[in-house]
Amino acid sequence: MTTIPRAPQVNPLPAQTRYTGDTLQGVPVISHLAVSDLAPGQRHRVYFQGVQMGTGQHWYVPVVVTKGSRPGPCIALTAGVHGDEVSGIDAVQRVMAQLDPTAMAGAVLAVLGVSRPAIELTRSLWPTAQQGGLAFDMNRVWPGDETGDNAPARHAGLLWNRLLINNVDAVLDYHTVTTGSAFTMFCFADLRQPAIRQMAELLPVEQIKDDPGLAGTLETAFVDAGIPALTLEIGEGRRFEPQKIALAVEGSLNVLKHYGLIEGPMGRTAADGGTVFGNALATVRATTGGFLELLVGLRDRVIPGQPVARQRSAFGDVVADYHAPVAGEVAVVARDALCEPGTRIVQILHQQPPAAP
Ligand SMILES: [Zn+2]
Repeated sequence: MTTIPRAPQVNPLPAQTRYTGDTLQGVPVISHLAVSDLAPGQRHRVYFQGVQMGTGQHWYVPVVVTKGSRPGPCIALTAGVHGDEVSGIDAVQRVMAQLDPTAMAGAVLAVLGVSRPAIELTRSLWPTAQQGGLAFDMNRVWPGDETGDNAPARHAGLLWNRLLINNVDAVLDYHTVTTGSAFTMFCFADLRQPAIRQMAELLPVEQIKDDPGLAGTLETAFVDAGIPALTLEIGEGRRFEPQKIALAVEGSLNVLKHYGLIEGPMGRTAADGGTVFGNALATVRATTGGFLELLVGLRDRVIPGQPVARQRSAFGDVVADYHAPVAGEVAVVARDALCEPGTRIVQILHQQPPAAP
């Protein structure tokens, strides 16, 4: 796996939070955050000044810091790296609503919408004006680059250098699957790392994939920087899934209890929730164009050779039948019936034996 080098710090983080002097709808704007100098026992609501648009205005990222009255670690909850993945924003809002800063230790740094233009358009990728409209996957650019050759990379670099890296001790990054598919309540985590395994096992999610990480994701950038992080996938894009959000919130509060930020009994964990673990996702892709009839649903157990989907042409003729390549549990299904060749139809979480040495 290639490791993306750390972004150069163009303007090293000052020891103080830097207010630009602007306010937006009554909310102060900052260009740097130092959680250490915020008043304890309070909630702090700010806009973080992200990258500029072509006309010179900035994209502003909503940030809440709930800082406890006692010292402790700072946990970041990040949402909206992909713009159509709204359940993560809802989950983080719900976690923050349960925190009482006067009874808390440490701090929780909530980033409530990283990819602002993508969120405005409810789409996955960050749209730019470059080359007539290039769009960028914001979960392949971390840790970003403040001097990079596109706005999303610079935005990531600003957030990384001036908001995140110097403040946080652990990170939960909230996603969903992209529009057009459905996902279980899922978690990607590098279980080889004890601190990450501890966090993952506190989540009463449906499925956890032991995953070495993908270069350029926010999760992997933090892990490479020595900061425990994992990625939560809260079902479908574009709409809230309340039952899955509730599991994400319960697990997130468990993590905050684990780090000593809040007190109280642990909620349900992976052990209580019957979480299924795997280390591989087998992907079935459409081999032809056509309309899709799914024969399995999320969390169905499948065996090798079991039919999972059938595809018909515009005339109604069967043009393809698809079968499970492995034994495992369905994690992702296509939601769009129209299926171009190459489209992901089904993903199955399973356990792959370790490769021979
Ligand atoms: Zn995502």
